This record gives sequence, C-alpha cells and structure tokens, in this order.
Amino acid sequence: MEHNISLILGDGIGPEVISSVVEIIEATNLNINWEIVKAGESSIKTHGTPLPDYVLNGIKKNKVALKGPITTPIGKGFRSVNVGLRQGLNLFANIRPIKSYPGVDGLHKDVDFIIVRENTEDLYAGIEHMIGEDAAESIKIITRKASERICRYAFELAKKEGRKKVTLAHKANIMKLSDGLFLECGRRISEEYKDIEFEDIIIDAMCMKLVQSPSDYDIIVAPNLYGDILSDLSAGLIGGLGLAPGANIGEGIAVFEPVHGSAPDIAGKNIANPTSAILSGIMMLKHIGEFEAAIRIEKALAFTFENKNSKTIDLGGNLGTKEFTEEIIKHLEVS
Ligand code: NAD
Repeated sequence: MEHNISLILGDGIGPEVISSVVEIIEATNLNINWEIVKAGESSIKTHGTPLPDYVLNGIKKNKVALKGPITTPIGKGFRSVNVGLRQGLNLFANIRPIKSYPGVDGLHKDVDFIIVRENTEDLYAGIEHMIGEDAAESIKIITRKASERICRYAFELAKKEGRKKVTLAHKANIMKLSDGLFLECGRRISEEYKDIEFEDIIIDAMCMKLVQSPSDYDIIVAPNLYGDILSDLSAGLIGGLGLAPGANIGEGIAVFEPVHGSAPDIAGKNIANPTSAILSGIMMLKHIGEFEAAIRIEKALAFTFENKNSKTIDLGGNLGTKEFTEEIIKHLEVS
C-alpha cells in the first residue's frame, strides 16, 4: 500500500536525524511518497512566514507527518512553529514514551512509562503582554474540554497498552483554579476507569520521585508546560534527549517528532543521535498500520544498541549519525 507522508526536515540537527529515519524506512522497501515541506526560518525566506498554509493543508490532506525540530527565537521573533502546528491542526495529545534500552547506560535501567502531555493550551496559549515597561503578564488557560479530553486519552492509552496506573501531575495547591480544574477533570474521568489505578501528585514532588524511582510510573498525564519539562527530565533518566520520541495526535491527524530541539550546538557535525527520530518513525509506522516494518526497525535498533562498539557519541561511543544509521540498516537485513 502506498502512503503519502508530509516530511518537515526542520532546523539544526533536524535534517541529519530525519534523513537517518527516512533512509532506514526506505531500506524496509515500504512504498512511501514523502512530501517534503518547509517550515521555520527557511520558510520565511521563501514564503514570508515560518508556517505557510500549504504546510498545514498538506498535513491535513496526508493525515500523517514526520517532523524534525524547529528553532524558535528566544524572547523575540516569530511565534513557535511547533505550537502553531499543534494548535493549527488541533493535535491535542503529545505522547512521549520513555524507555530504557539494554546496552545503553542511562541513570536507570528499569524505566518504561509514557508521558501524555496536553498540547494546545496552558501557558502555551501564547496570551501575554507587557504592563508598562517593567512587568509582563502571561495567561494560563486550562479548559474543562481540553483537560477531560487529555485525561480520557491517557486512560484509553493505559487500556490499549495494558498499563496499570495513571499519574496526574499538577500544582493545584498554588494554582487552585487552573490546575485545580485539570485535577478535577482527571479525578472525574478516572471514575470511568475503575480497573486502572489513579493517583495525583504535585509537580515538584513528582520531579524528585521520578529521578529516584522512575519504575513507579506507568502513564503520566500533565498540562502542557509540566509535560514539556517532565519530558526532558525523563529523557535524562534513560541516557539523554537522543532517545526520546514523540507523537502529536489529533482527530485523525498525527505528527511524529523527537522530543529534542534543533540542538544548534551540535548541528552539521554528524554527531547527533538519530534514535529519537528513528523511534518517532517507528511510532509513525505503527500508526499507519505498517507493523512488520516497524518491528524490523525496532529489532535492528535493539541489536545495534547491544553491540558495545556501535554507539553514538552522546552515549559514549564513536559512531557519527550516518555511521549509526548504516549500522541499523545492516542489522535490518539480518533481523
Ligand atoms: P535541544 O533539545 O535542542 O538541546 C538540548 C541539549 O541536548 C543540547 O546540548 C543538545 O546538543 C543535546 N541534544 C539534543 N538532541 C540531541 C540528539 N539527538 N543527540 C545528541 N544530543 C542532543 O534544546 P535547546 O538547545 O534548548 O533548543 C534548541 C532549539 O530547539 C530552540 O530554538 C528551541 O526552541 C527548539 N526546540 C524545538 C523543539 C521542536 O521542534 N519540537 C523542541 C524543543 C526545542
């Protein structure tokens, strides 16, 4: 079966890690028609905007996209393309599996949980303004609709994946109305899923517990900002940002992308770890029903990790992005 998939290479290490996953998927001989579209800084030069309508329309048509990270200027400049895509396509759930891999020396060896991050509101709503010259105000939006939707998604995911517990992270002791509403929605939805354990925890305590005992967690559901911060913290538990994939899910549309950013400090040096992008690609293949190819890549990746000499530089090895990719493709043949 032929698949049309929108492909955004992204900025910084984006083109390196996305080319890696595309090469690997191509090596499985799947019939994929990659529709390459531009977003971010490169698109401002050609289209006068970082997120042209044709990109959003292309993804709406194809229903699936694979995306590299996009640089967002800090403190000024254009609004985040990532946030624009998530809001523009109503990609309400950001799913980020965090799993330790045999052969990779992370801080912990027994990690296997999924972060379900609300993806459309919270402080990311982008409503902020100056009050005079010396004060700034940013508005945190939490709605019942989006909170119930994401909590239900977390419980449905737990059911689908045979997970036993959903943990909701919040700061409702301080933000009694906004985080309080998120918590209230989680508690209400949990009533509909009696056979899945539910607990809530204050976000700061959660950070400590996650670092000390990550195997206590199964599915974590959180508002947008906490979910973002927890994702990088959790990647740190298993060996770093090179190992954390993600999927942005909406109504019939999904955009797959690594958790990490464009990493300008290592861009263009052939040293980025493409594993987050490859794992995002595996999630994408499962999403489009190509399980056989997904499992082949999964096995080839595991095989590569188990070989002491085939690690990327961030994991203490000496393979470049391209060489690591070649290694996986080699193992694809035998797996
Ligand atoms: P970053 O995730 O790009 O990098 C943080 C650190 O992790 C850096 O030291 C980097 O070298 C390292 N790192 C990241 N990915 C790696 C990989 N695959 N292999 C090895 N090392 C890796 O975060 P940042 O530096 O804060 O952000 C850079 C830019 O990316 C910013 O403009 C930010 O807005 C953007 N960003 C985009 C996305 C996205 O597109 N979804 C996500 C996060 C950040």
